[in-house]
Amino acid sequence: MFKGILIEKDEQGYRAALQDIDDSALPEGNVTVRVAASTLNYKDGLAITGKSPVVRKFPMVPGIDFAGTVEASTHPEWRVGDAVVLNGWGVGETHWGGLAEKARVNGDWLVPLPKAFTPAQAMAIGTAGYTAMLSVLALERHGVKPGDGDILVTGAAGGVGSVAVAVLAKLGHTVAAVTGRPQEADYLKQLGAATVLAREEFNQPGKPLAKERWAGSVDTVGSHTLANVCAQTKHRGVVTACGLAGGMDFPSTVAPFILRGVTLVGIDSVMCPRADRLLAWQRLATDLDADKLALIGARTISLAEAMPVAQQLLDGQVRGRVVVQITG
Ligand code: NDP
Repeated sequence: MFKGILIEKDEQGYRAALQDIDDSALPEGNVTVRVAASTLNYKDGLAITGKSPVVRKFPMVPGIDFAGTVEASTHPEWRVGDAVVLNGWGVGETHWGGLAEKARVNGDWLVPLPKAFTPAQAMAIGTAGYTAMLSVLALERHGVKPGDGDILVTGAAGGVGSVAVAVLAKLGHTVAAVTGRPQEADYLKQLGAATVLAREEFNQPGKPLAKERWAGSVDTVGSHTLANVCAQTKHRGVVTACGLAGGMDFPSTVAPFILRGVTLVGIDSVMCPRADRLLAWQRLATDLDADKLALIGARTISLAEAMPVAQQLLDGQVRGRVVVQITG
């Protein structure tokens, strides 16, 4: 038996509860992991409370990411005792996830936990930090180099934004951080931002083309912000889009793309190919300084606290990241 949050939906309704679950109930998979830590993402909050149809199979263990140790494996790459991390692939949505003491998954979904990180640190980075690194890799892949010009990060004080600012600054880029919370300006400068700009400069309807300002951008906001970022991007510059914190729409024109050769790169962390995941976690280990990770910080809670905190997360009462310490 192992402890885990189980979400059920039947004639009695939608409910989540911490339960003792029999090992025989674990889903199919060739690797069983003893989960050391998971996180609470917004998506997990939606799943636990049932506010949005995130869970597509019942019963379901939520938790879209986890870090832990291999307990059993018939997968050629993984041995008992290996430290692993998993983000996405539909765990916590269509396949049992990380908010339990055990998980059984397809070994192809796992990547090695870098030695630089404890499971709790990996989960403080979480899907947000891994998505930030995928964005940085996309900028590099499309040719953006330190010295090309300033790099903009929107939603900068959020999970994705904070890691993006820290990593880009460490790599030698001059980073401009956009935030709607002026009280976070010192925090963003400590992470490495050279300048901090107000959200209002970006989130209103703008011109199809504006003064060229950015060699590259990591946008987590979408909507008018993404449109303005594209309009302000320098000739041959690169914009990555991973988020919709400001809206799902994209009220832009083709002007930045056909007149300035701007590249817009979509960032998808959930079904991202394994090679990119491996690289992203390796690069997080070398390019995200431990002191910056400590500054970004995370609150640690137990599995039992995950359900009330999930509700607080949806109510906007939780600031920063949440690590769920599960075993050891
Ligand atoms: P957070 O909630 O931690 O941060 C989002 C930030 O966006 C906030 O801190 C805030 O930044 C800014 N923001 C919030 N609301 C608005 C608004 N109405 N207008 C403009 N800015 C706003 O989220 P994450 O950093 O974890 O995720 C960022 C986005 O990326 C989300 O939309 C998330 O769903 C998405 N995401 C996508 C992934 C993918 O695979 N594509 C993976 C992970 C996340 P500030 O406080 O600085 O103003």
